[in-house]
Amino acid sequence: MTATADPRDAFDAAMLPGMRDRLAEIYRRYRAREEAVSQSLAPGGSSSAPDAYRTRDCPSCGYKSAALQPVLEARGLALLDCPECGLTYTRQVMVKAADSARYKESDLDAEGIRLRCSEPYVELESARARYYLRTLESARAVASPSLLEIGCGTGTLLLEGQLMGWHCVGLEPSIAAQVARSRGATGAIDGYFPNDLPAEPQRYDAIAMLDVLEHFAEPLDILGQIRPLLTPSTGRLFVQVPNWDNPLIRLDGAASPIVAPGHWSYFTPASLPMLLARAGFRAVHIETVVSERDRLGAYPLADIQRCIASLRPGVALPQDLPTAAWLYDRGLGYKLIGTFAPIEG
Ligand SMILES: [Zn+2]
Repeated sequence: MTATADPRDAFDAAMLPGMRDRLAEIYRRYRAREEAVSQSLAPGGSSSAPDAYRTRDCPSCGYKSAALQPVLEARGLALLDCPECGLTYTRQVMVKAADSARYKESDLDAEGIRLRCSEPYVELESARARYYLRTLESARAVASPSLLEIGCGTGTLLLEGQLMGWHCVGLEPSIAAQVARSRGATGAIDGYFPNDLPAEPQRYDAIAMLDVLEHFAEPLDILGQIRPLLTPSTGRLFVQVPNWDNPLIRLDGAASPIVAPGHWSYFTPASLPMLLARAGFRAVHIETVVSERDRLGAYPLADIQRCIASLRPGVALPQDLPTAAWLYDRGLGYKLIGTFAPIEG
C-alpha cells in the first residue's frame, strides 16, 4: 500500500488482487440460495401465501401509485418511479406478519452466516466498518460514545467499534446475533427494533443501519422511532443501502440480486436525503462506495456509456471502463452511504 492508496479500495473486491477468486465458491453457494429464496417469497411464489402482499402508494411522499407504469418488473414485483419525490419503490410489499416471519426462519441464514464468517468476507467487512466508523468521528465528542446498530448481523461493525472505543449495542432478529456474540461483540442482542432495545442507554451518539432501511415497507415509521434515540444535535444516523444509481445494478436489471422481495425501496444519492428530510434529518455526508468495476466491465463499453448517460444526463462519458474513483465522484458506486443529523425542534 502506498501513502496515497484510496482507503475505499480495502473493501472493494474489484480492487483487491485475488479477492474475487477467494470469494467465488462461497458466493456461488450464497447466490444460489438467495435466488431460490427470492423466487419462493415473490408474489405467487411457492412459500408466499395469497394474502402475504398488499399494494401501496409512495412510502416517502404518499403520491398515488395506481396509475404509474412500472419502470422494471422482476420476481413478481413492479418497481415504480415516484413522479413527485423521485423515490423508486415496489408497488407490492409484504404485509407485516409475513415479513417478520420471513426474518425469523430465513433459509438464507445458514448460507449467509457461512459467507459472512468466511475469511475474505470478514477482511472486506472489517475494512469497510473502519472506514464507516471514521465518518462518525463528529459524533464522538463525548468521552464514551455509544453506538447502536439495527440489524447487526454477525457483528463486524460492533467489533470494530469496540476497538475504536465505542460502547456498542446491536439488535439482530436472526441467529446471526449468537454468532456476533461468539465473535466477541458482547452487545449483540437477539431481537427487533425498537421492542427489544435495552433500557440503557436511553440515547445513542450514533445509530447505524447497514442494508436495513430498504427492507422496511414504511421507512418513515422506523426513522421516526430512531430520531428520539439520538443525542440531540451531535447524534448521527449512518445509513448504507444499495445504490439504485449504480450502472451494474441497472444493466443487470431484473437479473440483479438487488431487485428482490424484501427490498421495498431503491434509493439514490438524491432520493435518500429527501426521505430522511421528511423524517426530520439533514444530510451531513453522502457518498457512494464499492465499485464492482470488474463485474461492470463484463458489459460492452457502449452499454455502460448509455447507462451512465441515462443516470447522469450531460456528464462527459468515460471512453474506457470507468475507474472506481470516477464512479464514486458521480454518485455511481454500488453502495450508497449517508450520515444524517437530527434537525432540532
Ligand atoms: Zn414520492
